[in-house]
Order: sequence, then structure tokens, then C-alpha cells
Amino acid sequence: MTDTQSQPTGHAPQTVAPDPAFAAEAVASAELYERAAADRLGFWAEQARTLLEWEQDFTETLDWSGAPFAKWFVDGRLNVAHNCVDRHVEAGNGDRVAIHFEGEPGDARSLTYADLAREVRQAANALTALGVQAGDRVAIYLPMIPEAVVAMLACARIGAPHGVVFGGFSADALRSRIEDAEAKVVITCDGSYRRGKPTTLKPAVDAALAKGASSVTNVLVVRRNGEQVDWTEGRDVWWHEALAAAPEEHEAQAFDSEHPLFILYTSGTTGKPKGILHTSGGYLTQAAYTSRNVLDLKPERDVYWCTADVGWVTGHSYITYGPLALGATQVVYEGTPDTPDKDRWWSIVAKYGVTVLYTAPTAIRTCMKWGEEYPGRHDLSSLRLLGSVGENINPEAWSWYRRVIGGGKAPIVDTWWQTETGGHMISPLPGVTALKPGSAQQPVPGIVAEVVDDAGNPVGNGEAGYLVLTEPWPAMLRGLWGDPQRYADTYWSRFPGMYFAGDGAKRDEDGDIWLLGRVDDVMNVSGHRLSTAEIESALVSHPKVAEAAVVGATDETTGQAVVAFVILRGGEEEGPETIIDLRNHVGQEIGPIAKPKSIMVVAELPKTRSGKIMRRLLRDVAENRATGDVTTLTDAGVMDTIRAGMSKST
Ligand code: ATP
Ligand code: MG
Repeated sequence: MTDTQSQPTGHAPQTVAPDPAFAAEAVASAELYERAAADRLGFWAEQARTLLEWEQDFTETLDWSGAPFAKWFVDGRLNVAHNCVDRHVEAGNGDRVAIHFEGEPGDARSLTYADLAREVRQAANALTALGVQAGDRVAIYLPMIPEAVVAMLACARIGAPHGVVFGGFSADALRSRIEDAEAKVVITCDGSYRRGKPTTLKPAVDAALAKGASSVTNVLVVRRNGEQVDWTEGRDVWWHEALAAAPEEHEAQAFDSEHPLFILYTSGTTGKPKGILHTSGGYLTQAAYTSRNVLDLKPERDVYWCTADVGWVTGHSYITYGPLALGATQVVYEGTPDTPDKDRWWSIVAKYGVTVLYTAPTAIRTCMKWGEEYPGRHDLSSLRLLGSVGENINPEAWSWYRRVIGGGKAPIVDTWWQTETGGHMISPLPGVTALKPGSAQQPVPGIVAEVVDDAGNPVGNGEAGYLVLTEPWPAMLRGLWGDPQRYADTYWSRFPGMYFAGDGAKRDEDGDIWLLGRVDDVMNVSGHRLSTAEIESALVSHPKVAEAAVVGATDETTGQAVVAFVILRGGEEEGPETIIDLRNHVGQEIGPIAKPKSIMVVAELPKTRSGKIMRRLLRDVAENRATGDVTTLTDAGVMDTIRAGMSKST
């Protein structure tokens, strides 16, 4: 380890040099940055041609003449499902496991690439038999079972864009998404398992279709747990019966590189979720390229596990499309991390010999709260690389993740990206980059990002501003479904010619990028701009704190005041001394101006179903307003509990 002066929270500043043994085996090399900088479009053309199989080569890498609507790999034709499945079988790797499935009750099954190819072809035939044609939309409402991946690939195979809706969403959320996409078919299942109990999904589909969503002609139902479900004759079809009746042969037709692949809604931290549209060739190129170079996946060597749900973009790019395009082996787990006990994840890592683990900071902080005893029960020595996505990973959580899960030596890739970006954008390259806990550091080779001031000019090192992307990238969204104007307004109007991500960021003395949270969340206290992420990291670095969320509330004297919500670690006292202690700690770590005006100890924080803290709802509480849109909240009751506690404490 070498020291630098770049840590914003005042911890012992440090960078972690790549381990030479890891670097020797790593896929990525420093040379990638040089090649991409010398000829960016040529670099992407090379990635597209080497990582994917095209039925017809493209004639132009990027057509940006219709900006902000991009066309990548113009005139190229490919079949996405063929690229993710069949070609690996054709190359002689049909016996390689594609998916090790682990059900929550402990049932397990492994699908080879040959198995996956057969199921995808049959499912494609079954969808075609239901009248689904290229361009028709299919809604997928499934838990984390292999059929979710099969369904996505079957849609891709016949050119029918899918819209995956998280299996935990309500009938109303499902209906609004089906209606927005005007889906023709819904693929669902009877039910799943959660915390040791059977759940049901089909009733939500029935309820959604009873209230509207009249575009739907059929519901394809996977049998997962055997729960009794209502049946609408003529509309509902069992998946296993439809597949059994379908031929095993299916000719994959090639589609245009810009053929729509899927529509997916954002998680909703800033308001009503947006329907993001992604297309085929550029998206798959970047998903495969980053799976290779950022996640360091080598199909012959790795057992990969991404704990995300297919209802989120991470489940699209880093479960279904990227890893399968490479021909990698991965684990898919159906249930919760604490069933039957809090060591379930670690037992899965040991059972399958997982080498690369990709998860979210919220999960890491939960495991920290539970304690080291649980990972300590298992041999985690197979893990050689760890990834983080979705939020800032606080330096404290980073260090715990590396020490307790990564055996003190696995590199951590902190990947910044969005549903809109389709693939990783800012991240260290494992084995190449000297890591800085808490910073996503540099754009991946081929991507150009900047931190700019209010006028759109790049800030200097040591300064903060807005994160923008100054050049189009292959996996970029091609618009918002059905609303091209909102696409232009939301992302391209704040800084002309640049994509505005909506996140604040800062460059440290070395020029590395630190994400500071949503710009809507940035606080202004007596003229000082304060970042939610920095104050939260300071709070989490206190030994008594497990999780923290910080918001700015309107204040008569200071403009805004810092209000913090904290969850204490198990067994910690919440008396007035603790509050004083925490305020002083933030003062020491960042400066007196950052000391929270009030700190509230809570049992839980409002989170989206993808595990992100919903600060806008906490701001509603802090400013005594009615709570805004909660449709993507995991548990709406959390807000009532917080409000009740708030009235008691003040
Ligand atoms: P909405 O746009 O509806 O408010 P959302 O932005 O939460 O929802 P996503 O597309 O899932 O939906 O999340 C992208 C956002 O997640 C980024 O803009 C950023 O704020 C945050 N994020 C993702 N990865 C990281 C990371 N590694 N570090 C910091 N923040 C991250
Ligand atoms: Mg967003």
C-alpha cells in the first residue's frame, strides 16, 4: 500500500496497488487505455468484431448525425441469443455449465450451454406459436429462476423486445408497465420462495390484467412451486406444456444492430421511473466487453455470481447478456441472503467455488451489520475478484468487503453506471488500476466522462461539479419508450452536446472521480455545497453506525440543514451521548460545517426494491411534507415507522 492525499473523509489515505499475481492472469491491460485513446471508434469496432458474431458486418461504427439518437454498428446484423448461447455450443462448449441454479429451499440444478440452447429454441417456438412476432413486446414477471434468463433470450431470439418487471412489484406497478409497453404476452410463474415460505406471482398478473392491460393475449406460466393459481382458459398457458409441444429446432434470424432489445424502468430514486430503451449490437458489445475487462471473466476459469435481480439493469447486462455472450459459468440464486440462516450467500460461494462476486453496497453493509461470524463459517478462498454497483461504496464498507469476503487480497471494482448507460462506464480495471476505496476512479477504456461546473467547463483536480459523458457510447440508451422529447430534455438539455447523468462528482488531486450522490441531493449549508455521500461515509466510519442516509432540509438561517438518519450496529445504545458523539465524529472527519443539525436513529431506511436509499422520501419527512411516489419502495411501512419515531424524538 502507498499513501496519497486523496481521501475526502479524512481516513488514513491509501491506494491499493495491484497484486502482481492477479495482474499476471488478468484479462485487461494498461494498453487498452492507449488503444482506445488513439482511435476510440476503431477500438469499439474491434471489440464488436472480436467479441460478437455478426451475420452481416457493419459498414459504419457510429452514426451520430441524428444526435442525441445514436446508431452504432450501422447496417450490421446479428442475433443476440445466438451470440449468448448457440455459438458456444457450435464452438464445442455445449457441456460447459451456463447456470448453476440454487433454489431457496435448497433444490439445485445445473444447465449446460446445450441445455440452455435447447430451452431457448423451444421457448422461441412457443412464443411464435402464441403469435408473437419481431417487434411485439413481451412482459416478463418472474423470480430468479433459470426460466427468467431463458425467457429473455427467447424474446431476443425472435426480435421481440422484453420488459422485465421485478417479481416483487405490485399488480399496479406491473399493469402500468405492461400498458406503457403494450405487451402482447406476459411470462410469469405460479410462485417462488421467500424467507422459507412459498409466495405467489400469478395472482398479481391476474389482478393487473383484470384492471386493464388489454393488449395482452396470453399469459405463459412457469410452474415453480406448485401453489394453486387461478386459470383463465384460452389465455393462460403452462410454460412446460408449451415448450414440450414446441420443436427443438429453431432458425435464429439476424436483426439490425439497432433492433430494440428491451425496455427497462429505472429504480425511481429521483421520481417516477423512466422506461429506458436499449437496442442490440452496441448494447451487447459493451456488456460483453465490460464483463471481460472489468469483471475479468474468463469462461474456462471462472464461476461468476451476480446477486442482482433480473428486474434491474445489472441483471440484464451482468447476468443474462454480458456473461453469457462470453460463454461464462454463473450461479443464479432464487432467495434471500438470510434463509435458512445469515450465512446462505457464503455457503453458496463455497459450494460452487465462486471466483467473481458482484453485489451492491446495501448488501455489504447488511452483512457488516450481521457480523463476521457468518462469512467466517465458510471457505471463501475461491473468491479472487469482488464487484460493487448501485450506490457509493463507503470506504469503511469497501475495507470490510475486501478483508472479510476477499481474504484481504481480492481487488474490488467499484462500477459506476446507470440503467441508461447499459454497461459499466467508470470503474477501475482489476489488475491494472491502483485502487482507491470509495472512488470509481476512471472511465473504462473507450468511454469519455468529465466533471463540469455550472457553465459546462471541466473542473480542475480537487474540485467538484456535475458528472457528464461527452461522447456517445455503444450501450447508451436509444431513448425513453414512446417519449423522444423527454429523452432529449432529461439528459441532453442541461449541458448542450453532453449527456447529463444527474450525479454530482469530484476529481481528487490525482484526477480520479468520486461520486458524490444525486445532484438533487446535494446540500447547500450557509453557502457550502455538501455531499450526501461524504457525510454518510463519515457516519458509517464510526464504529457504532451500520448505515446512514443524509438529506438537506430547508432551514431559515442556513438555507439548508444537514439531517441524518442512522441505523446503529447490533447492541449499540441510542442515548444522547451517541448523538453528540456522531456529530463530533462528522465534524472531525469533514469539518464543523458538515455536522448534522439533527440525527435520528431509525431501525430501517427507505430503500428501492433494488436496494438504493430513497433520500427524496427522507427529505419529505425532514421538511414535513406528504411522502412522494413510493411505488418502487420495498416496504411502504418503513416511512410510517420513521415518521412516528420523528414525532417522538423532537
Ligand atoms: P431514477 O433514475 O428513476 O431516479 P436510479 O437512478 O436509482 O433511478 P439506476 O439506473 O438503477 O436508477 O441507478 C443509477 C444511479 O445509481 C446512478 O445515477 C448513481 O446515482 C447510482 N450509482 C450506480 N453505481 C454507482 C457507483 N458505483 N457509485 C456511486 N453511485 C452509483
Ligand atoms: Mg437515474
